[in-house]
Amino acid sequence: MSGKQLGREEMFVTGLRCLRCGVRYASGAVEYVCACRSNQGSDLGTLDVEYDYAAVSRAVTPEQLRAEADRSIGRFWPLLPIGGREQLPPLPVGGTPLLGVPRLRASTGLTQLWVKDDGRNPSASFKDRASAIAVARARREGRAVVATASTGNAAAALAGQAAAAGQKSVIFVPKSAPPAKIAQLLVYGSTVLAVEGSYDDAFDLCTVACHTFGWYNRSTGYNPYMTEGKKTVSYEIALQLAEQRGAAAPMQAPDAVFVSVGDGCIIGGVHKGFKDLVALGWIERMPRMYGVQSTLSPALHNAWRSGAEIPVPVRATTRADSISVDAPRDPVKALAAVRESGGAYVLVEDAAILQAILPLARLGGVFAEPAGATAYAGLLQAWCDGLVQPEETLVVINTGSGLKDVRAAMEVTGEVRVIEPSLAAVRDALGL
Ligand SMILES: *Cc1c(COP(=O)(O)O)cnc(C)c1O
Repeated sequence: MSGKQLGREEMFVTGLRCLRCGVRYASGAVEYVCACRSNQGSDLGTLDVEYDYAAVSRAVTPEQLRAEADRSIGRFWPLLPIGGREQLPPLPVGGTPLLGVPRLRASTGLTQLWVKDDGRNPSASFKDRASAIAVARARREGRAVVATASTGNAAAALAGQAAAAGQKSVIFVPKSAPPAKIAQLLVYGSTVLAVEGSYDDAFDLCTVACHTFGWYNRSTGYNPYMTEGKKTVSYEIALQLAEQRGAAAPMQAPDAVFVSVGDGCIIGGVHKGFKDLVALGWIERMPRMYGVQSTLSPALHNAWRSGAEIPVPVRATTRADSISVDAPRDPVKALAAVRESGGAYVLVEDAAILQAILPLARLGGVFAEPAGATAYAGLLQAWCDGLVQPEETLVVINTGSGLKDVRAAMEVTGEVRVIEPSLAAVRDALGL
C-alpha cells in the first residue's frame, strides 16, 4: 500500500516518525500509521511528519510569507507535505481573519483577546485546512476515490475540496449529523453514506472500506497528513499578531490558544504549527494550549487528568456535535499538545457552550456553531479558574460557522416574534 515515488515533495519532508515506538519511515514507505499499531482498537502508532527545517528556512523567510499576495495555506507550501502549491485544489483555504473584538475585551477585561474566525473557510469550518491536503495527496497518488468518516465538518470540507478538484469522494457520517452538514455533502456531489450508529461506528467502517477498495483515507487521527494542514492556523496567527505590531515586527506567538477538542487533531495541529515556528527560530516560545471539552464528551480531559496515555472511551452525548467523540482518534498528539506546552484541558457544561454563542455573536460579530463557541466557553472558564491573566495575548479559535447548526443557536435565542403587518402591531410588540 505504499505511495508512488514522491519526487519534489521530498525536498523538505524528511520522513515520518512513530510517536509511540520512535521508528522512522521514508515518506512513501508507510501510508497511514506505524506497523506497531495493534489491531485492538487502540489509537497509538500515530505518525508525525518531519521536515528539514534548515532547508525550509533557506527556501522561505517570514518576510516573504508576509509579502505574499496569496493569503491561502498555499503560501506555506515548503512546510506542507505537498510538492508545490499548485497541487492544492483550486478552492483556497485559510487566510481567515484574526479579530480584535474590542467589545468582548471590554466585557471580559481580557485586554489582548483575539478571535481567529475559521468559520470563514470555503466550507465554513476549520476542517478545510486538512481536507485540502487530503485531496492534494489523493490526486498525487492517483487514487480514484478519497473517503472519510466525519461528524460532519471534515466531510463537508472534503466534499468541497474534492468537488473543486474533480476528485470522487465517499463520505461516512453518523445518521445524527445536523441537516445543514449533510446538505453540504449532497450539494457538493459526494457519495454520502449515513451510518446507523455513532461517529465511531462510521470511522471504523470507513477504515475497512478504504482498505478493501483501495480508497484514499482522510480520516482524522489515522491519516498523519491532516495535522499538517491544520497547523497552518498557527502560522497565520503568528503572522497576524506581528502585522498588528507594525510592518517589520517579527512573528509573534500568543501566550495561550483556546481550541475545542473532539478527536484531538486540531489541537495537535495547532501545537505542531507553533513547534515548527520554534524549530525555524521564527518565534521564541510556545504558547500554552488549552483544549476545551464538553462535560458530556470528556475523554481527553479525563486522560489528561489521570495521566493516562490512552483515553478511556466515554459515551459522548454533547449537543456540540463536532466534538462528540467516544474514543478520540488522535490522543497522542492531543495530550502532548497540552502537556508539553504547559496548558490544560478545560471542561464546560453544554449549557455554557450554547450560552457562549451569544456574546461571541453579539459582542464579537462571530456566529459560531456549538463546537466553535466551546473554545470561548473554555476561555471564560479558564479566566474564572485563574489560568489566564488579563494582559496576556489570548487567541480563541472559532472552528465552525453557526450556520452549520441553527437549531442549536435558536435554543438560546428563543423563537422569533410574529406580528400582524401593521404599525400598531410594532408599537404593541415594542411597547412604544
Ligand atoms: C472537528 C471539529 C472540532 C474538533 O476537532 P478535533 O480534531 O476532532 O479535536 C471542533 N470544532 C469544529 C467545528 C469541528 O468541526
